[in-house]
Amino acid sequence: MSLRPRQQRGTIPWMPDTYGRSHLGVPLEVWRPRDSCKLLIFAGIHGEEPETTFALSRALRHLSRPSLQCAVVLAANPDGLIRGTRCNARGVELNRNFPARDWRPEPVAHRATMDDPRDVLLSPGPHPASEQETQALIALIGELRPETVIALHAPLACIDDAGQGPVAQWLAQRTGLPLVQDVGYPTPGSFGSWGAEQGLAVVTYEFPLAPSDELVRDHVPVLVELLTGAGPRAQSTDTSAPAPQGADG
Ligand SMILES: [Zn+2]
Repeated sequence: MSLRPRQQRGTIPWMPDTYGRSHLGVPLEVWRPRDSCKLLIFAGIHGEEPETTFALSRALRHLSRPSLQCAVVLAANPDGLIRGTRCNARGVELNRNFPARDWRPEPVAHRATMDDPRDVLLSPGPHPASEQETQALIALIGELRPETVIALHAPLACIDDAGQGPVAQWLAQRTGLPLVQDVGYPTPGSFGSWGAEQGLAVVTYEFPLAPSDELVRDHVPVLVELLTGAGPRAQSTDTSAPAPQGADG
């Protein structure tokens, strides 16, 4: 696929579809592929990680037309992004709100920065999939039926895939980030746990803690390769093995 000239990369040249609404009524947008969906990449499920939205948007703006087989969600939690909160506008940590078997009603502890203790308590929601952003993402995946989902996060600097599948292996090799099987702490009700139970290959791509210029330099080219199909698909076609269990931050 030919890439757009640099002068034209200020905008996304085609329109998204709306797959739902946030609690505040913001459209939940998906840029669909031209063909069947093999891969879904989503960013911004944590509103405190706007660099994931920024980098994925930058990558998408390289394309002159929709990706052949990759769907893109730039903001899975737009209310959190608007308000600068990890949670959605109802104060729910969406990445603990998925209806995985390990979902628990107790608040989940989060650290404010990498150096802080894990002492900020966040709600996983009143029940699994209580939030409309969660419900909409589940419905979108049910409709698109991707083989693999890449969830962008920051700043743990790793590629997390309990199944260590080919997309995760390619990402680890391509980025130099370590390939891990969990993020080192329990993540009940996470998207990764739910996705693994659905037989989805879920890869959590955690950007490092870095200035946005560095993230653009190091990670936008990787995302462009994923969007243009120049990435792991050229290397391996084995994406059938589901992860035994998933976890993501
Ligand atoms: Zn995150």
